[in-house]
Amino acid sequence: VVVGFGGAGAAAAIEAHDAGARVLVIEKAAVGGGNTRVAGGNIRIVRGAAKMMQHFRALSERGTDVESIQAHVEGLTALPAWIEKLGGVLSPDERGVGTLFVEGPPYCPREYSGSAFPAVAGADGLGGRYRWPLQNGLDRGEAAFAMLERNVAERGIEVTSECAARRLIRDGATGRVTGVTGTLPGGTELQARATSGVILACGGFAWDTALQRDYLGAVLPSSSPPHRNAGDGVRMAEAIGAALWHMRAAVLQLGILAPGFDASFPVRIRERGFIIVDQHAKRFCDESRLDGHDGGILLQGLDMRSATRLRLPSVLIFDERTRLAGPVVGTDRGYNRGGGWSNDNGAEVEKGWIETGATPAELARRFGLDPADLEATVATFNRDLEMGSDAFGRRPADSWPLSGPFYGVRIWPCIVNTQGGPRRAADGRILDPFGATIPGLFGAGELGSIWTGLYPGGANFGEALVSGRTAGATAAGGAIG
Ligand SMILES: Cc1cc2nc3c(=O)[nH]c(=O)nc-3n(C[C@H](O)[C@H](O)[C@H](O)COP(=O)(O)OP(=O)(O)OC[C@H]3O[C@@H](n4cnc5c(N)ncnc54)[C@H](O)[C@@H]3O)c2cc1C
Repeated sequence: VVVGFGGAGAAAAIEAHDAGARVLVIEKAAVGGGNTRVAGGNIRIVRGAAKMMQHFRALSERGTDVESIQAHVEGLTALPAWIEKLGGVLSPDERGVGTLFVEGPPYCPREYSGSAFPAVAGADGLGGRYRWPLQNGLDRGEAAFAMLERNVAERGIEVTSECAARRLIRDGATGRVTGVTGTLPGGTELQARATSGVILACGGFAWDTALQRDYLGAVLPSSSPPHRNAGDGVRMAEAIGAALWHMRAAVLQLGILAPGFDASFPVRIRERGFIIVDQHAKRFCDESRLDGHDGGILLQGLDMRSATRLRLPSVLIFDERTRLAGPVVGTDRGYNRGGGWSNDNGAEVEKGWIETGATPAELARRFGLDPADLEATVATFNRDLEMGSDAFGRRPADSWPLSGPFYGVRIWPCIVNTQGGPRRAADGRILDPFGATIPGLFGAGELGSIWTGLYPGGANFGEALVSGRTAGATAAGGAIG
């Protein structure tokens, strides 16, 4: 029984089926896909396996065992051939490999295809990313999930939708996990018996406030599909004694909240006239050198005396030319992809989602910031830019002086996905706190991911497929085919 029909669950189901198992997939939502369907779908290209391992090991800060990292890199190496076998078409993106960022727009967050940590040993083992190109109207995560869904259907694998798994069933005498209970529409209980095992592939806790508060230290918005990945897998595994790992780790991006939208929009700034300020109207970084996973910077800046997080939220301030250069949000991925935002941000100004002011002081009042402080911040930014001496090292090539009218919008650290969950071994078996395997229980995907706090980018999507394949094959007692 596979719990969760996203990338990891689909890969597990396909692999277990191909190893001879009869598979049932249980999915909470009416349609599968989860984060996988809305994702950028970027997967790491292995340029040098040994170096990639060295790099990932360094990034794990010893928080992930070497066997799991090795299994991941081996799985990544074999992944393109498997995807092609399933009918997937891939296009590589190696822009900017060897440098930190791709030069030119967008200016925030910057695009890059190498590791987010080029100075860490082994970074040159990563050779950019590949993803699904546009075909039949679908690309990225949507195209990837369509491929997986088609392969699941072609194999006759049963998928029970609108069924939220609730509890694992365990044999009292042997301790073996023998099934799972779930709730069907109308409240009917489903009891699914598993002879080979249960694979938990039901995502993290991007939509669970209690787990976020406990492990991330704050309740945060999310750009993933609302109310799906709500920590169910964490609780089910915890209830039968699984060890948890990597609970503090989450991929965060800068995001904007808009009325009527549950999920956040990712920030995307296409021109150079912008800054970010905290609640004291102060800048705190080179805004043009943030990458797509640097949202955590807004969680920093805790003022110990007032017990407030000064950057939660922050305010993104931009000028007229930047407003006209394109939507200040990304529309090519995420739950709100494909619409809901005007090209020149004009509709959002009209609706009051974006505030405006003729002067920094006027804009400051709209956000409850000190008008004189924001005037001073903008004046300093403009002056330092002219002298090439920005306090945060922002380069003139990535900037221009700000002039009115000014625009502003609140920005938050928004969850792309979380990494924590039950600890799994390299072969997908779930472990207890003493390192013993829990018989009959397996895990895959972002639920109990190998990634810790240092996320290299483009690394969860491939992991979902690799770890799904591994868990499926192990549970079915076969080898990866
Ligand atoms: C906007 C966005 C962009 C991203 N871009 C990239 C990228 O370019 N590259 C990259 O490496 N990573 C990216 N990621 C992250 C990556 O896509 C995910 O971490 C990965 O796809 C997770 O796959 P999964 O199968 O573990 O989880 P999911 O795909 O989220 O699937 C989990 C499924 O479990 C279901 N479920 C939850 N609870 C239950 C329950 N109790 N019972 C039954 N079913 C349940 C959910 O409804 C969901 O369908 C992105 C994520 C987002 C949100």
